[in-house]
Amino acid sequence: NLELMDKIVSLCKRRGFVFPSSEIYGGINGFWDYGPYGARMKRAVENLWWHEMVETRDNVEGLDSTIICHPRVWKASGHLDQFSDLMTDCRKCKSRYRVDQMEDPTTCPNCGSKDLTEPREFNLMMKTFVGPVFDEEHAAYLRAETCQPIFVDFHSVRVATRQKLPFGIAQIGKAFRNEINPRNFTFRSREFTQMEMEFFCDGEEGMEFFEYWKAQRISYYKNKLKFKDDFFRIYEHEKLAHYAKAAIDIEVKFPFGWGELEGVHHRGTWDLSRHSEFSGEDLAYMDHDNGRKFMPTVIETSVGLDRTMLALLSAAYDEEKAATAKEGMEEDTRVVLHLPPLVAPIQVAVLPQSKKLKEQAYNLYKDIDRHFRAEYDETGSIGKRYRRQDEIGTPYCITYDFESANDNCVTVRDRDTMLQDRVNVTQLRDYLEKRIEA
Ligand code: ATP
Repeated sequence: NLELMDKIVSLCKRRGFVFPSSEIYGGINGFWDYGPYGARMKRAVENLWWHEMVETRDNVEGLDSTIICHPRVWKASGHLDQFSDLMTDCRKCKSRYRVDQMEDPTTCPNCGSKDLTEPREFNLMMKTFVGPVFDEEHAAYLRAETCQPIFVDFHSVRVATRQKLPFGIAQIGKAFRNEINPRNFTFRSREFTQMEMEFFCDGEEGMEFFEYWKAQRISYYKNKLKFKDDFFRIYEHEKLAHYAKAAIDIEVKFPFGWGELEGVHHRGTWDLSRHSEFSGEDLAYMDHDNGRKFMPTVIETSVGLDRTMLALLSAAYDEEKAATAKEGMEEDTRVVLHLPPLVAPIQVAVLPQSKKLKEQAYNLYKDIDRHFRAEYDETGSIGKRYRRQDEIGTPYCITYDFESANDNCVTVRDRDTMLQDRVNVTQLRDYLEKRIEA
């Protein structure tokens, strides 16, 4: 449904969720900026993940590592030698493709020409230089995934926190890949944010924890991000990396088709063994309870924040032929984002019925803003203001009217049902909290 994709892209631009990076210079392919609402929502999604994966768990620790690591890290991880895609160029129209993404690798998807270059390997690591000399000796790489520093810091984190196996380390941060063909809006970007958690355990418990984390992540999508059953599915990998025991992807129905959102992988002892070998530091774990020493097995959950945002927007976007006379609008199309209240950029909007009520309404807004992501809007008719909030997915609009000063009550309008409740201001926080956290 490419029409839907265009509508989402256009709404994101119009309302300040996402726009092309460096747009006044013509943009730069594969790079996107999050505007004010996008940034608020992105932070909310990130905080929710961190809360669920780190803050509410005694056995998961957080990490915030550098983007540039010692180049040997990427030698050990295999990225420098193997992190590449097969690429081909069309000699006629000059477009470039990843061979594995072409339906027919002998025909240019753009112009139909058969005059393609021989497929060749293209490494996806972004390269830079550290220090004043720009030669190979000073070459370094922007991390292609956030998990490698977790493996590299495993020992330091374990010692500092006195964690015993099993335990996990999580990190949120930027990753960079020189994607050959960035496309589908933010889905395939060259700079993006990952949220990854590596869980270290005894190999004997590996499959048990793999199943545990798979279930945890599915439950998160169902219960926190409110994904409907037909919006996501589990893809079981048939071909596994030689060291892996099991791997699934959580896929989402994006407007352009099914796409990977998250991977949950049983990676065996591969990562820590490789870094032990390449660094010369023994990263094996000593179990003092039984005197056993072994290389921990890793279960990984790895999700893209940008793809989560796109998934949420795709699930949320809706156009309704609606507008009731009561809302003061002509019959028209209501564009609405049915975002889960937990991650909506604005959770509560406060709207005075008239500018004469500005002072009281603004004070109420300031009060609410301490507990929720809130916004104050006094411009235009109430109907227009509701529409603006619908379009950015605000679940609750509060109208302060001429009665409010007398009865200390306000009207709360629900985005999805458009029904209104009269709520006493003293009950308001409780009323909103119950609904937003439901
Ligand atoms: P794909 O097959 O789509 O290229 P991948 O299997 O290479 O993805 P992983 O290396 O498993 O992806 O990365 C974990 C997660 O990071 C992905 O599930 C995705 O959400 C996110 N991610 C990976 N590459 C990109 C990208 N180019 N742009 C945005 N997010 C990405």
